[in-house]
Amino acid sequence: MSTPEQLYEGKAKILYRTEDPEILLAHFKDDATAFNAQKRGEIAGKGDINCAITAHLFRQLEAAGIPTHFIEQVGATEMRVQALKILPLEVVVRNIAAGSLCQQTGLKLGTPLSQPLVEFYYKNDALGDPLLTRDRLFLLELATPDQVEQLTHLALQINQLLSQFFGQCGITLVDFKLEFGLDREQRLRLADEISPDTCRLWNQTESDPDLRVMDKDRFRRDLGNVEVAYQQVLERVLAQAMQ
Ligand code: UDP
Repeated sequence: MSTPEQLYEGKAKILYRTEDPEILLAHFKDDATAFNAQKRGEIAGKGDINCAITAHLFRQLEAAGIPTHFIEQVGATEMRVQALKILPLEVVVRNIAAGSLCQQTGLKLGTPLSQPLVEFYYKNDALGDPLLTRDRLFLLELATPDQVEQLTHLALQINQLLSQFFGQCGITLVDFKLEFGLDREQRLRLADEISPDTCRLWNQTESDPDLRVMDKDRFRRDLGNVEVAYQQVLERVLAQAMQ
């Protein structure tokens, strides 16, 4: 077989073309970045772990009626996905205050939100992925009003499914980031990944604010045992099926 042609290399994944223009191969890397790639490193085994967690979650979200780009996992770090036109948006859902929400609003880390908060960020490294208002989102024509409504609805549905699922794993889903794309029929589908790189996950059996962290904050904040935490998330996720 000839070497696949690389279409795109991101911080955590490489996308390759396949013989079918409708299908891409996503390879999950061990590379880790934070703070808009100012901090770089490697988390041993991360590619395998995040590929397996994403495959498991996407399969289950599909079964629950959420359209995704996922087709099948084809290797330890590879999955076949549907080619989409990715929207340059990061859709963040928050259940508990953490990260930039605390920094920008003064809310104390760990404050439960009375209802989930859905936010849109402009996926643009040069600008540092700024938080968008609805009007700015429309000004830049990043999505139509109808798409924003659909994205919000999908994000909240996914939050409900994932929060319940992680809860059964003994993990609190604090916040997470989603990316979406349009298929040939201009239908929105969930894309990218859902993993400890893109979610804040707190171990419910730990009350210590540093020990409970099971996600990329261990890398961002040099808390150590990053691989161990990611591996624990994988083990718990694989042991559960979404209800
Ligand atoms: N997130 C992500 N990619 C980004 C920015 C954020 O996956 O480029 C995730 C992050 O891991 C967290 C959530 O989105 O689960 C909210 O992140 P936040 O806005 O608090 O930014 P941070 O302070 O983590 O940079």
